[in-house]
Amino acid sequence: MSLNPDNHGCQLPEALRRYYLDAMGIQVWMQSVPDTMPAMQDDASGITAEVAGPDNTTTAVPAVSRQSQTVEWQSLQAEVAACTKCELHSTRTQTVFGIGNHNADVLVIGEAPGQDEDAQGEPFVGRAGKLLDAMLQAIDLQREQVYIANILKCRPPGNRDPHADEVAQCHPYLQQQIELLQPKVIFALGRIAAQSLLQSDEAVGKLRGRVHDFQGIPLLVSYHPAYLLRKPTEKRKAWQDLLRLRAVLD
Ligand code: URA
Repeated sequence: MSLNPDNHGCQLPEALRRYYLDAMGIQVWMQSVPDTMPAMQDDASGITAEVAGPDNTTTAVPAVSRQSQTVEWQSLQAEVAACTKCELHSTRTQTVFGIGNHNADVLVIGEAPGQDEDAQGEPFVGRAGKLLDAMLQAIDLQREQVYIANILKCRPPGNRDPHADEVAQCHPYLQQQIELLQPKVIFALGRIAAQSLLQSDEAVGKLRGRVHDFQGIPLLVSYHPAYLLRKPTEKRKAWQDLLRLRAVLD
């Protein structure tokens, strides 16, 4: 199936897709992909992208290696839970390690836990998390299919921006998560995630819209769901980013 303005590369039933887009606050008339979208340019030039549904096939991984991977995830999580490398350990309720499918193709990376995440120990569970779920569902991805992590594993007090030293201290944990996961694509949400992963000081608006390279892994940038809640008019661009994510994935 080609990526086209009618189905946007998704195999969701139309009614369901509209439901999810509605949940994202995207009006149906916004669905057509602007001419400037690479996906459309591909279509216009006759290049089409094959779009598959969620991949339920499992790769045959020897039992031993799967077991040792599990041990590595567990020991990394335990190490994070005990971390006192930066001051955030003294104000956190608990660490927020990350959650999801250890065989995920998509790694979503946000900024840092907020109040809800600090309380529940899981990333993106508050209002922004609900929007993230709707965004993923709009391109046929369930939360359980992806892996979700943050730049920081602990909540900055009052949800202030992470400090550079905190990002630096925490980065090895995320790096190990990436190495264990080996995702097909990284979806970096918001300025902090995008800038720290890409070592850039460019704005999200400049960094989105193209495929970056993170240690050989395609990386896409989009707006943070919390920002989209504050500025719903930007959801149109986020939808374009999601379509690009779907295309890279397929
Ligand atoms: N914002 C983030 O960046 N991460 C979370 O886990 C929650 C909100």
